[in-house]
Amino acid sequence: MAKKFQRKIEDFVCENCGAKVRGNGYTNHCPHCLWSKHVDINPGDRAAVCGGLMKPVDIEQKDGQYILIQRCQKCDHVRKNKTSPADDVKKIIELCQKK
Ligand SMILES: [Zn+2]
Ligand SMILES: [Zn+2]
Repeated sequence: MAKKFQRKIEDFVCENCGAKVRGNGYTNHCPHCLWSKHVDINPGDRAAVCGGLMKPVDIEQKDGQYILIQRCQKCDHVRKNKTSPADDVKKIIELCQKK
């Protein structure tokens, strides 16, 4: 019996800007525009069925790390998402300056 191969790292195409994003296992948002898709209730569980686009609305700083706050355009669910080193710093700064 073949062992089922479980792939955790997923590549995806950003539905906001169309960029091809290479999954690295710890981010699920687009590093170019910081949008993502509402598919997780808890990060990685893919339990939400909403599928709406999550728009970056704010940035929080905690312990020297930037936390991205995203709101779903479909159901208004708000969630926090850690930024990753691959993210576009300019976009993060833009969001900080919007405050
Ligand atoms: Zn994008
Ligand atoms: Zn949603």
